[in-house]
Amino acid sequence: TNDQLALWDRENFFHPSTHLAQHARGETPSRVIRTASGVHIEDRDGNRLLDAFAGLYCVNVGYGRPEIAEAIAAQARELAYYHAYVGHGTEASITLAKMILDRAPANMSKVYFGLGGSDANETNIKLVWYYNNILGRPEKKKIISRWRGYHGSGLMTGSLTGLELFHRKFDLPLAQVIHTDAPYFYRRADHAQTEAEFVAHCVASLEALIEREGAHTIAAFIGEPVLGTGGIVPPPAGYWDAIQKVLRKHDILLIVDEVVTGFGRLGTMFGSDHYGIEADIITIAKGLTSAYAPLSGSIVSDRVWKVLEQGTDENGPIGHGWTYSAHPIGAAAGVANLKLIDDLGLIDNVREVGAHLRARMAEALADHPHVGEVRGEGMLCAVELVEDRDGRVFFDPARKVGPQVSAAMLADSKVIARAMPQGDIIGFAPPFCLTKAEADQVVAAAVAAVRKVLG
Ligand code: PLP
Repeated sequence: TNDQLALWDRENFFHPSTHLAQHARGETPSRVIRTASGVHIEDRDGNRLLDAFAGLYCVNVGYGRPEIAEAIAAQARELAYYHAYVGHGTEASITLAKMILDRAPANMSKVYFGLGGSDANETNIKLVWYYNNILGRPEKKKIISRWRGYHGSGLMTGSLTGLELFHRKFDLPLAQVIHTDAPYFYRRADHAQTEAEFVAHCVASLEALIEREGAHTIAAFIGEPVLGTGGIVPPPAGYWDAIQKVLRKHDILLIVDEVVTGFGRLGTMFGSDHYGIEADIITIAKGLTSAYAPLSGSIVSDRVWKVLEQGTDENGPIGHGWTYSAHPIGAAAGVANLKLIDDLGLIDNVREVGAHLRARMAEALADHPHVGEVRGEGMLCAVELVEDRDGRVFFDPARKVGPQVSAAMLADSKVIARAMPQGDIIGFAPPFCLTKAEADQVVAAAVAAVRKVLG
């Protein structure tokens, strides 16, 4: 029964990103998800909810796709597992690597597979360190990340993540990680700054950081094309061009974390294509399989690959591997998923319906006295709530305005949006197959909830 499951859940299971004590006391909602189809999930009580966050912005092709389910089942029947060590592959993993490189920016060379975005970024940092050790510059190891960046929850990746919650009581960040400004135009300290002036400010503060630490100690810069978990924040115009110039000047590698943006979310295959970013390493996960099975990847450029190759000629095999790297079931899901994105023209739908969602959201909410900004890109949208719009005064986080709005959307309209973890920001990242009618439903739910909570 549902009551039995709720009890077992409290007694036996501790969940990610959860107030553990409240969960154990039964104070957090207990919802058992039973099935899902298209943009809707259904729980065991029969509630049907429109998931406007695609799980954790990962079920990009939508739920319940038989093509992917059948590919997984066929792979499990034929070969559920074999490892990928020392040249062993499967038809699925080899095919998927080729499909990824066919879609990736032209300077990319090879892919290494992992399980999730966090482990892929751990791999990336190890590759960058290996790279600099092979090049004989062992002191060039620090990694620059941005405040509000999200790169995972491991020891290194939790350090790269620029959200205080992920550091608190974990003794993070690690010493090798340094943070620079988020390209968050709406929250710039000096409101008089134009976009161009704000970009110049971001560049100057990056230059100052590099100067202070010494370029010879800095290995790489990591960033998401659009800040995701930090608030769904597209960068100001010209940001990526300006940052890349600085990194090239100081011989600092660029890791582009495309865990959210890879495979279509911005309306282009990669976020790097959208912003003209030339990465040294690209992180992929979520949208690679649309989360039908866990799989991630580190795509390395020709420049990085040549050094890695040279390293193993000098030192023997690279001492890095996961049991489940290139897991056949994840790879089969990935092949079917990428094919489906092409066959259904889903990236076209991202552009069309994503623009519709944002335009309707802005029309409905941009004049509300507690809506500071409606923003986004592709199939990403955010509504930033503020105490005072003209004075740009933010709410006291203790009031939990964002969580109240998302809770009202769920309770009153059965629409799932995400209250982003820092700031009162309501995030939307629906599956790519969202229709315009469903987008209108999401907007109506947001408007009703904002009015209910804020008047
Ligand atoms: N990088 C980005 C940009 C992410 O958004 C996430 C997860 O949300 C990660 C990395 C970590 O991925 P995972 O949760 O699969 O470890």
